[in-house]
Amino acid sequence: MSIEIHGVSKQFGQFSALNNVSLSIPAGEFVALLGPSGSGKTTLLRMIAGLDTPNVGRLLVNGVDIQEQSVRERGVGFVFQHYALFRHMTVFENIAFGLRIKPKSVRLTDTAIHEKVMSLLGLVQLDWLADRFPSQLSGGQRQRIALARALAVEPKLLLLDEPFGALDSNIRKELRSWLRGLHDRLGITSVFVTHDVDEAMEMADRVVVMKDGRIEQDASPEIIYHQPANSFVYRFIGNVNLFHGRIDEQAQRFGQRPVGHSDAVRAYIRPSSMQLHLAVDNSSSGFFGATIKRLLNHGLNARVELISEWGEVFEVAVDPAKIDFSNLTPGRAVFVSVDQSKVYYEDFSI
Ligand code: ATP
Repeated sequence: MSIEIHGVSKQFGQFSALNNVSLSIPAGEFVALLGPSGSGKTTLLRMIAGLDTPNVGRLLVNGVDIQEQSVRERGVGFVFQHYALFRHMTVFENIAFGLRIKPKSVRLTDTAIHEKVMSLLGLVQLDWLADRFPSQLSGGQRQRIALARALAVEPKLLLLDEPFGALDSNIRKELRSWLRGLHDRLGITSVFVTHDVDEAMEMADRVVVMKDGRIEQDASPEIIYHQPANSFVYRFIGNVNLFHGRIDEQAQRFGQRPVGHSDAVRAYIRPSSMQLHLAVDNSSSGFFGATIKRLLNHGLNARVELISEWGEVFEVAVDPAKIDFSNLTPGRAVFVSVDQSKVYYEDFSI
């Protein structure tokens, strides 16, 4: 199922929750709507679901205006953060619910419903829980049952609003790859709302980064990471150092005051785009001096916090296989080089 969103805006009173949003989602794609709290992700998802109407703009589902279709005709499945399972029904009956309320003319027989529910339970790998009640399940199990229930009516479009938000990080990770696999096997279109960068980057074909009701960037995870459209996207994706400085004949001068307003820049550099050196050859250039503040992490994501020679605090990622941590003592003077191709500049001249 394809979705076309053209110039959609939504006002709540004086407040603009969505501002002229346009987005095209081809059938079969897994799209993540990523952004900070209040950026308009859920509002956009509700529009796609047809649960809310835009003040301006149009939404087309498979080329047909969404307003011209009933919710049932659209074939949409929803999963929300807080498992909306019916507490008084067993797992089996929760999943069967959408099948039982269909009009008699299209309703499956009891035997067919039984078969379908059991096959969905197999799909979410929880067939042994059919007779339990929601209160007897773990959070991750409840969320998988909520997915099975959404899938029971064979949606062509699956809309998920922070479905793993209430779960702990290990279960979230497990469910990410499981859900992505399920999406691929069923060949449906999925739109997933999250404020978790890793979740979006790991699961989605395309990440739509939102802020203040606008789309800041709409691209593959790889492009979002390596070619962020602006400093907001760069910072939101995380793990970034900010340096103030100036641009001077195409060379950057970190830590130097701009001569005039025209050449002032902010430079954003990821900890992994910088190298730490315990000593450098006097004749070499391209380094700046820094002092070690502390070691932040010893494991796979080892990072050192430093203070630059001009006083800005920043982090450098270090490879435990290449550096002896006993050399990284607080107060030690070191040198830092920067992979220039990975520096993102933002002009903040007035
Ligand atoms: P979160 O990650 O916190 O769920 P979000 O990006 O999904 O945030 P939305 O729920 O889309 O954000 O809300 C966008 C903005 O619109 C928020 O500032 C919210 O307060 C406002 N908003 C949403 N629904 C309504 C409503 N029914 N009435 C008034 N304001 C609303």
